[in-house]
Amino acid sequence: MALFVVQRHDATRLHFDLRLEIAGVLVSWAVPKGPSLDPRAKRLAVLTEDHDLDHAGFEGRTPGTGGPGTVIVWDTGTVEHRTSKGGVPVPPAQALGAGHLRFELRGHRLSGEFALTRTGLGRDGRSWLLVKLDDHAALPGIDLAASELGSVLTGRTNSDLET
Ligand code: MN
Repeated sequence: MALFVVQRHDATRLHFDLRLEIAGVLVSWAVPKGPSLDPRAKRLAVLTEDHDLDHAGFEGRTPGTGGPGTVIVWDTGTVEHRTSKGGVPVPPAQALGAGHLRFELRGHRLSGEFALTRTGLGRDGRSWLLVKLDDHAALPGIDLAASELGSVLTGRTNSDLET
């Protein structure tokens, strides 16, 4: 089973780093407003650099990378890749290249199916949209990224790490 993590990164601009294990690395998107369980919420997700798998448990200060800041593990768990075309499963690395990923998360806060779709807009065409699919785990009107601040691993908030 592959791994996912969402790290709340309070830096020059607050964002959430969504990282999905694909082909041995953590493929990463910066999501300014964070993931939502509301199927009507379309969240901008900017594709950023891959990270090593061992970054998934990282919490702490981030000097240098994108300005000084702090990182907590906002959610983590497993991801099951679910992209298919004409009923045939598409390997996630291929789906990534094609600009459309469908996957199911099993985390502490996030669960159910999500889709990531490249828009072709933004700098270098790195803009994608993250959407919750309308399934059993959908929670219309709920914005967990706004209401839940602590780490699912340690309970610490970003502010706790500043001192
Ligand atoms: Mn970041």
